[in-house]
Amino acid sequence: MADYDLTIIGTGPGGYVCAIRAAQLGLKVAVVEKRKTHSGTCLNVGCIPSKALLHASDLFEEAGHDFARLGIKIGAPKLDLKAMMGHKDETVEANVKGVEFLLKKNKITAFQGVGRIVAAGLVEVTPEKGKAETIATRNIVIATGSEVMPLPGLEIDEKSILSSDGAIALSSVPGRLLVIGAGVIGLELGSVWRRLGSEVQVVEFLDRILPGMDADVAKTFQRTLKKQGVKFRLSTRVTAAKASAKGVKVTMEPAAGGTAETVDVDAVLVAIGRRPYTAGLGLEELGIARDKQGRVETDGNFRTTIDGIYAIGDAIKGPMLAHKAEDEGVAVAEILAGQKGHVNYDVIPGVVYTMPEVAAVGKTEEELKEAGIAYISGKFPFTANGRAKAMRKTDGFIKVLADARTDRVLGVHMIGASVGEMIHEAAVLMEFGGSAEDLARTCHAHPTMSEAVREAAMAVAKRTIHM
Ligand SMILES: Cc1cc2nc3c(=O)[nH]c(=O)nc-3n(C[C@H](O)[C@H](O)[C@H](O)COP(=O)(O)OP(=O)(O)OC[C@H]3O[C@@H](n4cnc5c(N)ncnc54)[C@H](O)[C@@H]3O)c2cc1C
Repeated sequence: MADYDLTIIGTGPGGYVCAIRAAQLGLKVAVVEKRKTHSGTCLNVGCIPSKALLHASDLFEEAGHDFARLGIKIGAPKLDLKAMMGHKDETVEANVKGVEFLLKKNKITAFQGVGRIVAAGLVEVTPEKGKAETIATRNIVIATGSEVMPLPGLEIDEKSILSSDGAIALSSVPGRLLVIGAGVIGLELGSVWRRLGSEVQVVEFLDRILPGMDADVAKTFQRTLKKQGVKFRLSTRVTAAKASAKGVKVTMEPAAGGTAETVDVDAVLVAIGRRPYTAGLGLEELGIARDKQGRVETDGNFRTTIDGIYAIGDAIKGPMLAHKAEDEGVAVAEILAGQKGHVNYDVIPGVVYTMPEVAAVGKTEEELKEAGIAYISGKFPFTANGRAKAMRKTDGFIKVLADARTDRVLGVHMIGASVGEMIHEAAVLMEFGGSAEDLARTCHAHPTMSEAVREAAMAVAKRTIHM
């Protein structure tokens, strides 16, 4: 006899959302989490703490550089890093407590300890102290997430050679910070410390920043970050870093090969990506297939190669994003309850929470070109938007990519203040298969930054009003 209909290993955004949805649908649910708190990478050391620091450091920067131009004289703002970290810690605690409350409210049984799948239908939980126990369960969902990708030649000590975990918890501002990797996490955390006073240099192996995002947006973004004082070394490979009492000696060389060079910095942030985390789960013993990158292989219904065992979130293929993990959690719960849960991978927004923000949904121009799809691009800059001018936030633009034959919107790319909020009107439009004309004919409140989205849609038909 099974004790539970469903046992989920890992309570990150994938796991806890899956648990809540399954409980709503009448399943008896257990979760297993090895951390002291629920909510996974995202709420404990990822999305939420980084956004708390991005928000606070952005206001610090504004107070120091922009207030005077708006007629507000306050003198130079002083940084109280301990208090700023306190704000971050309180934010994390409030969110994590919220998830614990939701699990209880939905009558989900929580086990604390390391989960291991003994066989289909059996999960063993080993707590930090005390005896292991075994849960009998009809179905199992692997939601064990991801971990920091290490870089050979560098040993992360979280003091001066940092992963994102260390970079959100520093007790002083490093004088010179070298960020390895120009992806989302590196640029967000690099921005935080640049605003708080670090000299930031970003080293990237590829010849561009934000790989995978629209190249046009990435170019504008790099230019804007450069204006803010971030230095970039593209097409460069870091081969070693040695920490000492004086700082860190970092060795790098051109990606294509060539003469190595050493630079001295105070701290290094290794942000070259994350890799799926499935250690100790028992996947090898069970014969659950994984791909070359270590991701658990799943079919269109999130089933692994063993019946009754499913996987979601960062542990499987697809973008490593909290909302993608959440949607997969909902889909699996609905499938297990006999419904037709599914995820539309063509409409998963992505946001970089810097200033300006970068946001995207759907295909990039590069992807459309590669797929041989004829498209029309409509672009509108924030320099021509009244609200952006009123707020002195005119950096950036909106770009709408529409099918040349049907006018259906295939991708929307944004760079500018608050675009992380604005991207969702594009997501809703695309979810409903909307056209650029649908967007262009939808009345938008004036004055808003969102009017630029409408104007970009108008630009597809070459009929912008304000350009
Ligand atoms: C600095 C940073 C910033 C980020 N910012 C964003 C952002 O702004 N937006 C966004 O969408 N994404 C962001 N991400 C990515 C996001 O955090 C992940 O995509 C998301 O957390 C994945 O959810 P998940 O449920 O798959 O896994 P996770 O959140 O990693 O949760 C997995 C959980 O499983 C537990 N676990 C693992 N193995 C076991 C085991 N054997 N037994 C018991 N428990 C186990 C772990 O302890 C963990 O709590 C960020 C990540 C980082 C590091």
